[in-house]
Amino acid sequence: MDFTTLCVHGSNKRYDTTGAVSVPIFQSATFVHPGVGQSTGFDYSRVQNPTREYLEETVAKLEDGLDAMAFSSGMAALTTLMELFSPGDHIVATEDLYGGSHRLFQHISQKNGLSFSFVDTSQINQLQEGIRPETKAVFVETPTNPMMQVTDLAAVARLCRKHNLLLIVDNTFLTPYFQKPLNLGADVVLHSGTKYLGGHNDTLAGFLVVANADLAERLRFLFKTTGACLSPFDSWLLIRGLKTLPVRLAQQEKTALQIAQWLLEQDRIKAVHYPGLPSHPGYEISLKQTSGFGAMLSFETDCPETAHRLLEKVSLIQYAESLGGVESLITYPMLQTHADIPAEEREKRGIGACLLRLSVGLEAAADLIADLKQALYGN
Ligand SMILES: *Cc1c(COP(=O)(O)O)cnc(C)c1O
Repeated sequence: MDFTTLCVHGSNKRYDTTGAVSVPIFQSATFVHPGVGQSTGFDYSRVQNPTREYLEETVAKLEDGLDAMAFSSGMAALTTLMELFSPGDHIVATEDLYGGSHRLFQHISQKNGLSFSFVDTSQINQLQEGIRPETKAVFVETPTNPMMQVTDLAAVARLCRKHNLLLIVDNTFLTPYFQKPLNLGADVVLHSGTKYLGGHNDTLAGFLVVANADLAERLRFLFKTTGACLSPFDSWLLIRGLKTLPVRLAQQEKTALQIAQWLLEQDRIKAVHYPGLPSHPGYEISLKQTSGFGAMLSFETDCPETAHRLLEKVSLIQYAESLGGVESLITYPMLQTHADIPAEEREKRGIGACLLRLSVGLEAAADLIADLKQALYGN
C-alpha cells in the first residue's frame, strides 16, 4: 500500500462497533477483566491503550518497522532508549546534535556511567576513529540540527554491523515520508513527533521504532516500566496529524527550496544551508538515500545586527522554538536550542551570532519571502 494511503488509514483496526470513522479517544486509565485471568487485550493504559495502539501501529507501518512506541515527548523517548545501556558503555554521536539530546547525554546519561564521543558523522573516517572497544551504539541525526549536515546511513550501518553496534537514527527532520532509516540498516528510529508527524505545533510526542523482535521486546519492557507514554488525546492528535503528512511535507519542501534560492541571492545573507541546493555538501548523498530534502534550512547573515533585526521584524514568520508545523517558525540556535552547548564548541560547529534556523510552514512562498524581505530591508 502506498505511503500516502497508510497515512490516512494506518492501523485500520476497529475497536468499537459504532462505525466511527475517526478512531475514538479511549480516555480510560484501566480496563475491566472479563473473567479471572482474562483480558480484553487492554489492562492498564501505561502498558497499552487502544488509541495509542492505533497510532503506534500506524507509525510502525510508515517506518517499515515491526513495532513503534509512542512517548509523551521526543526527549522521553530518548531517555527511555538510554536505559538499554549500562555503566561503562560508550556511544558515538553526531556532533551537530539537537541541543536537548546533547544535554541529556552530557548531564544525565554521563552521570549514569555512559560516555560519549561527538564526531562529524558525515565524515565516515571520523566515525570510525571514534569507535572504542566499549562502544555499544552510534547515534546519528541526519540532516543535522541546525547545520543540515547529511550522513550516509547505509555506510554507517555497514560500519555498525562490522563492529556489532546498535545504529540509532533521529529521523525527526525528514520523517519516513522522505527517509526510512530502518531500510538503510538502522536498528532504532527516534522521532520527536512534536514536529512534522504531529505537524500543527499543538502537542508534544515522541517515538521509538524498531524492526527487530528482540529489540522491540526489550524496549517495550523499558517503556511500560518507566512510563512516559503518550496520552489517549495526544495520540488522537497525532493520528489526525499523520493523515496529511505527505501533502504537508511535499508543499513545505517546495516552499523551502524557493526560500533557500531567494536567500542565496541576498547581499545580507552570507550562506544558506539546505540539502536541496546542489551546492550543499550532502546533496549527492541525499539524492541516494532520501526521496526529498525536507523543509528545514539555516542561513548566516552578514552580521549579528542583521540576525537580530530579522528576528525582531518578521511578522508572518514567528520567532519561536520548535519546527515542523504548518506555521513557519524562525529560531536563533545560539540563544535557544543550542544555548547549553559551551560557546567555544558552538562556534567551532558554526553556530554563531549570525546563524538563524527556519522551519518552513504551509503559508504561500510569496508571503514568506515578502516577510523576510521587509525584515531584511524595511525600516
Ligand atoms: C525537538 C527534537 C527532539 C526532542 O523532541 P521533544 O518532542 O521536543 O521532546 C529531538 N530531536 C530533534 C531532531 C528535535 O528536533
